Amino acid sequence: MSDTKAPIRLVIATGNAGKVRDFETVFAGSEHPVEVVSITQFGGMPEVVESEPDFRGNARLKAQAAQSSVPTGEGWWTLADDSGLSVDALKGAPGVYSARFAGPDATDADNREKLLQVLDGIPMEKRGAHFTCHLCLISPEGEIWNFEGICEGSIAFASSGTNGFGYDPLFIQKGDSLTWGELDKGHKNADSHRGRATQKLLRWFGEHF
Ligand code: IMP
Repeated sequence: MSDTKAPIRLVIATGNAGKVRDFETVFAGSEHPVEVVSITQFGGMPEVVESEPDFRGNARLKAQAAQSSVPTGEGWWTLADDSGLSVDALKGAPGVYSARFAGPDATDADNREKLLQVLDGIPMEKRGAHFTCHLCLISPEGEIWNFEGICEGSIAFASSGTNGFGYDPLFIQKGDSLTWGELDKGHKNADSHRGRATQKLLRWFGEHF
């Protein structure tokens, strides 16, 4: 008798090819086979106004928007993520506004520059921060599950390194001395907010399939 398992068919709710590649890499290591496709295969990611006050709400908005474009009856699951940086000295900002911290059309470099400006003069012991990644999974029948990963660290006094994206060149994970911009992707992904949330999702797949 064959013990070959039918793959879980999973649509990633993002138009960002980099994020899809990251998820493909993670799911390639899954015990249960996962067939990963991007929502671009089904006409692209619908426009979503991230109007919720938290990562969980915005991840759900993205997952539901994508799910409405996926053909029914073919067994597709939908996965969306929402993530961001919360800085203690800024009472949790930029949080859900991480991508738009320096304005609606801000680049990653603009956002880093703004963060350094607003933290100017703040000593290292008060530069604590954490990243959050929230994953929202919707089953073909419309049931919703949530998985969250948090990663603690602090904000450096200057940008260092060119690896990664977003605030990586400013973020020093607790226990490290280099920023994520200086460390290789493998080091970051193994234990990042996204890595932690995804490990929870993989465990859930392991328990349910
Ligand atoms: P979103 O999840 O695509 O909405 O991303 C929100 C924003 O949070 C990104 O544009 C980045 O600025 C920031 N961000 C989220 N995750 C990371 C990370 O792993 N490293 C650096 N910045 C991140």
